[in-house]
Amino acid sequence: MSELRELYQEVILDHNKRPRNFRTLPEADHMAEGHNPLCGDNVTVYLQMDGDVIRDISFQGSGCAISKASASLMTTELKGKTQAEAEVIFQRFHDLVTGGMDDVQEDDETLGKLAVFSGVREYPARVKCASLAWHTLHSALDEGGRTVTTEEGDEAASGA
Ligand code: ZN
Repeated sequence: MSELRELYQEVILDHNKRPRNFRTLPEADHMAEGHNPLCGDNVTVYLQMDGDVIRDISFQGSGCAISKASASLMTTELKGKTQAEAEVIFQRFHDLVTGGMDDVQEDDETLGKLAVFSGVREYPARVKCASLAWHTLHSALDEGGRTVTTEEGDEAASGA
């Protein structure tokens, strides 16, 4: 298990250092912003849809290693997926980080590399970091873009 954990850490550190799809998307037809005031993470998710398929996906923002790596891995896993598939993966990822799933297989086909976030459930404060990009994606798909925050009603700290 500890070997697996080291591998997981490597993947997270790598995606934090060299985030994939870390750019704006001029052709985006959906976007949303997300904030996690608890940790100071900010993310903007851009989507270019082709009917029901995520043709391209990118993100920008700043935050801790977990939030950045999570957004980066999300973009690599979701490119080319349908909206319905993305929702399934989101649900499964949510179960993974909140501990709703007891035993995640390393090669879980639905999650792919996202399984590296299984360790996050042991750190409740990090769950919001890991899920921020996903909630933001959900908002972009659902409502075509509004600002989401992991905390209710407190936008006062933004811009500081
Ligand atoms: Zn964070």
